[in-house]
Amino acid sequence: MNNSLPAVEIPQPSPRSTRPEILAAEIIERLTYRIGKDAKVAKPHDWLTAAILVVRDRIIDRWMDSTRRVYEQGDKRVYYLSLEFLIGRLMRDAVSNLGLMNELRDALASLGVDFDVIAGLEPDAALGNGGLGRLAACFMESMATVDIPAYGYGIRYVHGLFRQQMADGWQVELPETWLAHGNPWEFERRESSYEIGFGGSVETIGGYDEPPRYVWKPAERVIATAYDTPVVGWRAQRVNTLRLWSAQPIDPILLDAFNAGDHIGALRESNKAEALTRVLYPADANPAGQELRLRQEYFFSSASLQDILRRHLQQYPDFSNLPDKVAIQLNDTHPAVSIGEMMRLLTDVHGLEFDEAWEITRGTFSYTNHTLLPEALESWPVPLFERLLPRHMQIVYAINAKILVEARKAKNFSDQQIRAISLIDENGDRRVRMGNLAFIGSHSINGVSALHTDLMKVTVFSDLHTLYPDRINNKTNGITPRRWLMQCNPALTSLIREAIGDKFLDDTEALHALDAFADDAAFQEKFAAVKRENKVQLAHLVGSRMGVRLDPSAMFDIQIKRIHEYKRQLLNIVEAVALYDQIRSHPELDWVPRVKLFAGKAAPSYHNAKLIIKLANDVARVINNDPAVRGLLKVVFVPNYNVSLAEVMVPAADLSEQISTAGMEASGTGNMKFALNGALTIGTLDGANVEMRDHVGAENIVIFGLTAEEVAQARADGHEPRAIIEKSKELSQALDAIASGVFSPDDRSRFTGLIDGIYNHDWFMLTADFDAYAAAQRTVDQIWTNPKSWYSKTIRNTARMGWFSSDRTIRQYASEIWRA
Ligand SMILES: *Cc1c(COP(=O)(O)O)cnc(C)c1O
Repeated sequence: MNNSLPAVEIPQPSPRSTRPEILAAEIIERLTYRIGKDAKVAKPHDWLTAAILVVRDRIIDRWMDSTRRVYEQGDKRVYYLSLEFLIGRLMRDAVSNLGLMNELRDALASLGVDFDVIAGLEPDAALGNGGLGRLAACFMESMATVDIPAYGYGIRYVHGLFRQQMADGWQVELPETWLAHGNPWEFERRESSYEIGFGGSVETIGGYDEPPRYVWKPAERVIATAYDTPVVGWRAQRVNTLRLWSAQPIDPILLDAFNAGDHIGALRESNKAEALTRVLYPADANPAGQELRLRQEYFFSSASLQDILRRHLQQYPDFSNLPDKVAIQLNDTHPAVSIGEMMRLLTDVHGLEFDEAWEITRGTFSYTNHTLLPEALESWPVPLFERLLPRHMQIVYAINAKILVEARKAKNFSDQQIRAISLIDENGDRRVRMGNLAFIGSHSINGVSALHTDLMKVTVFSDLHTLYPDRINNKTNGITPRRWLMQCNPALTSLIREAIGDKFLDDTEALHALDAFADDAAFQEKFAAVKRENKVQLAHLVGSRMGVRLDPSAMFDIQIKRIHEYKRQLLNIVEAVALYDQIRSHPELDWVPRVKLFAGKAAPSYHNAKLIIKLANDVARVINNDPAVRGLLKVVFVPNYNVSLAEVMVPAADLSEQISTAGMEASGTGNMKFALNGALTIGTLDGANVEMRDHVGAENIVIFGLTAEEVAQARADGHEPRAIIEKSKELSQALDAIASGVFSPDDRSRFTGLIDGIYNHDWFMLTADFDAYAAAQRTVDQIWTNPKSWYSKTIRNTARMGWFSSDRTIRQYASEIWRA
């Protein structure tokens, strides 16, 4: 082995103590010598940084041990490539997984510092848009928990997703500055830097009596530098690495230009390089196909692949055993260019034959698909791809030629089938299809719920599935129970421990034992008290941030997720308007008091999504201020949805809204968080809701609406929204009220276009599902009025959601895809 340890005996540091008085002394030490502050003048932020540095030392002990173990045992390494990691805050997670919570609290208290106060100052690492990025974060934690040697690879965006503010009910986007106070969790690794090229040309060498060699001569180059963040598994079983790349110029300053007086021009390279990792692209209705996005994708793919291959060669003589020692999981198609990059590195740089490199590549990669929406499938115009990545364009053509010949020979494919599986879309302007590239270059392609996987086989990938019938498999998503139960809901966690003991902390399926308490009156009372206390805390947050008073005895009905037409926040708002009308028209009836809470960001260029936010706020203003409602209905849109806000809202929900148009939500994970925390779900048979119904029992979830099959049928038959609206008095009144400006007296036509869209095509089947949804809401009301029944159902939700732990998902990936 080339880098064996030197012969001298290097003393190992002894592991750090976890006694509160030692922790306190170290916090003071860090405050003084690392931050340079006297305890008397230290600000809360200084205490936070000092505390993180002390916690970090305890992590490092385990981190080094984990790294050493993989190397010594020759374990297979898993690499999770994702353009997004929506990790949120790390303090509570790290401290809790290390088992240091009480000790650190005591240590800080002895210094007059409140743990909760400083933990609340930590900025959210909002390096993701939504579910896909949060899944990557849950997976990182679960991979460390189930002891898989894994590395996450992504981009260290200087600005995460924008911060959302409301101005007169409209969404306003502000830059997120999560690095403003520095980031004490990360380690900059200057020694792990790689050159990344763009553009230029390809030179062909030889080719007479030996196969030609290709040399890419990029026109531009930047440096990728690694920043490592440790990821602690539950009980600190293992500590893995999240490695995020930052772009730096090769020449920070062009001195010739500077000396010639061109001070701005001298910095141009520097600015251009750094722009690469400055912003996270918001997930739009349709990806704009912007050059910077493709640059980001290639930048982090290339840096990660170079790093992976370098690490392999440190331990093994060549790449023949790469598929046995390395598994690379592509989180959606954003890193799919890695397949071309792997081929380039293996053939051009390391001299392997094309066919051999192809076998290794396909044996190493696997791909997770996250969406069936045709407009969200990534593809790049051929001229752009060719200009930016000329060598990769050649490789794509070479792979394509190989596969198309194979398909004609092996399966006798028709021209139409050949067109469908080709890496190049020839309809209209020619484009490189990243989904097909990811599929063809992987040995496993998975969907994220049973329904989504089934649909994948008959829609986007039907012909590729015919060609490779063994490749598509399902891995239903999961959530980490540490963050989404133990940390966000400590009161419920304590109550469960009291009832069934601690086994569920290590095996979430042990929650099943709670089933025995579902009808126990005393337990129901305690469960209700925990829920109420969580609602009081959310009411407090809403009161202090928004000045709206909420009654914690009302039903908290919550829909929080990205704003998108397919997620149908609009259906929820229209139903609220209909309910408002009913409450006013029938004051004699016993209405169940409800608070409808919304949160979520809209992509800045997604017009209708932004209009839906404005509508929610306009409707809220009218309903909340109408004395005729007598406080029976409130509508609240809480700004700036992120992981930390979800951690407060999820435990406080009575009702979870999971009402997407069937067939359009790949899985959802918000649905899982709520049910685990004892909310009742109202939802369609979409994504993972289908499997949730199987697990919690059909009597413990409120399902309504068209199935995916019925949606497809209705669209094929020519769905006629107008006819449906005419038949439903409640629906037509609600739509007319919105369209005619009842909620927007300052601009009566504000929502006319939005409602016209429903009258004219209603692609998302709002009208088709409205009556069923309204009826399902009245069923929910009925259950609510019988608390025994309500808590019997919600306790069973908590008891039966253990299967949706991301530990289970990761174990399935490990045994069925990674063989790690
Ligand atoms: C869980 C989560 C999501 C995903 O929610 P869905 O309801 O599955 O779309 C998005 N954003 C944040 C901050 C989350 O915590």
